[in-house]
Amino acid sequence: MGAYNGKNVVITGGSSGIGLGMARALVDGGARVVITGRSRTSLDAALKQLGGRASAVRGDVSSLADLDALADRVKEEVGSVHGLFVNAGISPLTPFESTTEAAYDEVFATNAKGAFFTVQKLAPLMGAGSGVVFTTSVANTVGLPDTSVYSASKAAVRSMARTLSADLLPRGIRVNAISVGPVDTGILERVMTREAAAEFKAERVAENPMRRFGTYEEIAGAAAFLAFDATYTTGTELTVDGGSSQL
Ligand code: NAD
Repeated sequence: MGAYNGKNVVITGGSSGIGLGMARALVDGGARVVITGRSRTSLDAALKQLGGRASAVRGDVSSLADLDALADRVKEEVGSVHGLFVNAGISPLTPFESTTEAAYDEVFATNAKGAFFTVQKLAPLMGAGSGVVFTTSVANTVGLPDTSVYSASKAAVRSMARTLSADLLPRGIRVNAISVGPVDTGILERVMTREAAAEFKAERVAENPMRRFGTYEEIAGAAAFLAFDATYTTGTELTVDGGSSQL
C-alpha cells in the first residue's frame, strides 16, 4: 500500500527538475499523476523516466486556452484532483540595467499569472480535503543580485497562497506554498555559463547551514505533506532550504 494510493495529482512543470522529482516520489507512492510542461519532447522523456506510470499534457500555463484544455484532459483522465502542485516557473537572471519589458512580462506571465489561472481552472475538479501547493522560492528573502523580477513574481505567488486560501476555504480546499532553497536541477547551467554556475553553486553550498543542496525527495515530501497531511494548515508557506534563510 503506497502512501499516496488513491490520490490524483496534477503537477505543472513536471517534465524536469523539481516537478519531475515530485512526480517520481508521488508515482512511487501509488498516486495517479498528470504532469504538464511546455515541450512534448521533454514530457516524453519525463514519462520514460517515470516508467510510463503517469500521463502528460503539453501546455503553456500563461495561456488560458491551454489551461482550459488541461482541465478538460485531467477531468477525462482522472476525474477529480486531490493534490494540485503549481510548480511551473522560469527564473532567468534579470540585470537591473538591461532587463527588457518583454523579459519582465514573461516572468510574471509564467510565474504569477500562470499560477493564479492554473488554480482557477483546476479548482472545479477539486473537492473538500484536497490541497493546492505552490512552489515559491527563498530568493524572495535573500536578496541575490539579478533576481528582482523573479523574486517579485514568487512573492506574488506567496501572497496568492495566503489570499486564495480564504477564497477556497468554503470549498474545503487548502492552499499552501513551499519556499524552496537551492536544488541542483541543472537550471543554473541554462541561465549562466558552466563556470559561473559552478562558482554560484559552490557559494550556495558554502553558505548553507547543511552544506548541501536539497534533494528532490525532500522537496516532494514537504509538498505532499502540505497537500495531503496538513489538514489544519492553509494559507502558509513552508520553507525547505536547509535553514539558509533562518539562521
Ligand atoms: P526546471 O526548468 O527544471 O522546471 C521548470 C518546469 O516548468 C519545466 O517543466 C518547464 O517546462 C515548466 N514551465 C516553464 N514555463 C512554463 C510555461 N509557461 N508553461 C508550462 N510549463 C512551464 O526548473 P526547476 O528548478 O525544477 O523549477 C521548478 C520550480 O521551482 C519553479 O517554479 C522554480 O521557480 C522553483 N524553484 C527552483 C529552485 C531551484 O533551486 N531549482 C529554487 C526555488 C524555487
